[in-house]
Amino acid sequence: MSAVTEPSVVVVGAGHVAAQAARTLRRRGFAGPVVLVGDEPVGPYQRPHLSKERLATGGEGGFWLLDPVWCEANDVTVRTSSPVERISAGTGEVLLADGSALPAGSVVLATGGRPRRLPGVEGERVHHIRSLSDSDRLRERLAPGRRIGVLGGGFLGTEVAAAAVTRGAEAVVFDLDAVLLARALGAGIGSAITELHRGRGVDLRLGHGVAEVRPGADGVTVVTAAGAETVDDLVVCIGIVPNTDVAVASGLAVGNGVEVDARGRTSLPAVFAAGDVAAHDHPRYGRIRVEHVDVAQQQASAIASTLAGRPATFADPHWFWTDQFDINVQGLGLGGVRPGDVVITRGDLAALNGTVFWLRDGVLVGAASIERGEDISVARELIDLEIPVGAGQLADESVPLEDLLDFDDDEVPVS
Ligand SMILES: Cc1cc2nc3c(=O)[nH]c(=O)nc-3n(C[C@H](O)[C@H](O)[C@H](O)COP(=O)(O)OP(=O)(O)OC[C@H]3O[C@@H](n4cnc5c(N)ncnc54)[C@H](O)[C@@H]3O)c2cc1C
Repeated sequence: MSAVTEPSVVVVGAGHVAAQAARTLRRRGFAGPVVLVGDEPVGPYQRPHLSKERLATGGEGGFWLLDPVWCEANDVTVRTSSPVERISAGTGEVLLADGSALPAGSVVLATGGRPRRLPGVEGERVHHIRSLSDSDRLRERLAPGRRIGVLGGGFLGTEVAAAAVTRGAEAVVFDLDAVLLARALGAGIGSAITELHRGRGVDLRLGHGVAEVRPGADGVTVVTAAGAETVDDLVVCIGIVPNTDVAVASGLAVGNGVEVDARGRTSLPAVFAAGDVAAHDHPRYGRIRVEHVDVAQQQASAIASTLAGRPATFADPHWFWTDQFDINVQGLGLGGVRPGDVVITRGDLAALNGTVFWLRDGVLVGAASIERGEDISVARELIDLEIPVGAGQLADESVPLEDLLDFDDDEVPVS
């Protein structure tokens, strides 16, 4: 791209990818200018807090991802309120909506995603949650005496319901599925989380599709086969759409996201993409787009390493977490789980303390846990090293999980 003496890296989108890319570029000794260009009025922050502590309490602890003092000392520029229109590979520039152009030796496209919306479902009482202002606006509505509807019982919807109840509001969750989170985490963990929500007072309207949503001046009416229910406010949590406008305008290959290889390279030289907007080619799972912070950050690190002269690929089994009230849930490798994989439970899911493992041909492919992050750490090594394990060993609480890492090639695992 541009022929400048010290080529710069421009990151388009100032979120998790941008913050991590800046840090890794400097750690790996990249010497050129680093510019993060975002359309939000603030610099990078912890997006997961928006449906957790920030929503429940308004707390700012650990919220900001980059310290302005560090940015100053490390020649990292954060440009806020600066929407980007396209990347010009011909001139080696990033073109902003205000008509200005930034020279770029390399570009990392990290525009994330935006909430999926229901046509016509808008207004003062309808909420989506992706940005800091979305979360702050919603928090003001979560108060005693208010009834909050949540459309969609996935990770985001369940976290919003938990925050609403924590703040003293009533919460009602509408979902087509009969069990919360079962599609993402399996029936065992899904049932446990469903009972957790029910036990903490969340009103669950599960197993019915939503036929109609009518926003009005006094409330929002949600109609399902089970009847009509009017809530004070409705939070629509039905997934995201990747922000591919810049990629399309720049002529990049785009499918379900910007298509990149395991190094994060797009179809244009010197243009990379990572995070929620990127559909990456994973060595184990094939082309896949995921929406998890750790994945975004690790992809950013791999790209930044490559740009600093130390080529790296991203092959991680996709770790993530969600907090449901005060309960921590983690998952790993779930993009690789298939129907027919053997499902093994360790511990007591109903008591909110256990782990589910998915096994194929005697090798672990995925794991998900409730309040057992330590099991997920061991699972990561078992998956990475493809260590043979027996179903009996995984289920047996008297066998420390760490012992399975001491596998000797001559041993046959107990099934
Ligand atoms: C409420 C909420 C809770 C979440 N909780 C969890 C969780 O518990 N665990 C987990 O693993 N993941 C969670 N996630 C997902 C996680 O936040 C994302 O995976 C992560 O933010 C992806 O990072 P990113 O850099 O790709 O995108 P983002 O962090 O979204 O950053 C993209 C940035 O690009 C900006 N942008 C878009 N278009 C343009 C443009 N044309 N010009 C300039 N800037 C642009 C956007 O405004 C945004 O600031 C949560 C997400 C949300 C919204």
